[in-house]
Amino acid sequence: MHLRIAHLYPKRMSIYGDHGNILTLVRRSRWRHIAASVDEIEVGQKFDSKRYDLIFFGGGQDQEQDTVAADLKKKAGAIREAVGNGAAVLAVCGGYQLLGNYYQPAEGDRLEGVGIFDAHTEAGPKRLIGNVVVEPDVLDLPKRPLVGFENHSGLTFLGEDANPLGKLKTGFGNNGRDNTEGTVQGKAIGTYLHGSLLPKNPHLADWLLKQALGRRYKNARLGELEDAFELVANEQAVERFS
Ligand code: GLN
Repeated sequence: MHLRIAHLYPKRMSIYGDHGNILTLVRRSRWRHIAASVDEIEVGQKFDSKRYDLIFFGGGQDQEQDTVAADLKKKAGAIREAVGNGAAVLAVCGGYQLLGNYYQPAEGDRLEGVGIFDAHTEAGPKRLIGNVVVEPDVLDLPKRPLVGFENHSGLTFLGEDANPLGKLKTGFGNNGRDNTEGTVQGKAIGTYLHGSLLPKNPHLADWLLKQALGRRYKNARLGELEDAFELVANEQAVERFS
């Protein structure tokens, strides 16, 4: 099997360790003798709607989001088509916001989103910063808590078609009001969890790999990995921050 990953705007949208998610997806594939390749797609570069099994979109500062949002308008149709063709998605913070319907920053015009998530974001009055623990509620994802770090001013509100990634045990999550964090819509996950997210949440990494490989390999099965260190990191974070 060969996992093909598209990494959107890594030079502009990969803060707070988000690139570690790519390293995790590639390593957890290669440890299972699954080939994995990553195409970095920057401003002005074409997005091939038929090529990718997984799309990763990290977080960034408002000023970078302005530039990226303008470029996303040219890629939006191809990204929607890729998701419609069965690509999985992991979008973190700013990337999550821009794959929603729109993001209204504190200053300047509203940024139109790609519309992968039925969600919209409005800049809030203060930054929501700190450790986060989430009780996930996603089909086929083990109930082990998800842990990470958040730093955003955006407040994200989910529409009817977007289910929360889970309920908060600790942290602000989507908006600090409705006790939800992130969203899951089909094979697409949006979240505020930086850190990187996936190294300490191997169950989520494998969920994404299964969804992504399922696009082209109908009976894709993932062998077990020795996750002792990853699970200790997860358990210690849950213990410290719950
Ligand atoms: N600029 C956005 C916000 O503050 C996203 C920040 C981020 O990606 N960490 O909400």
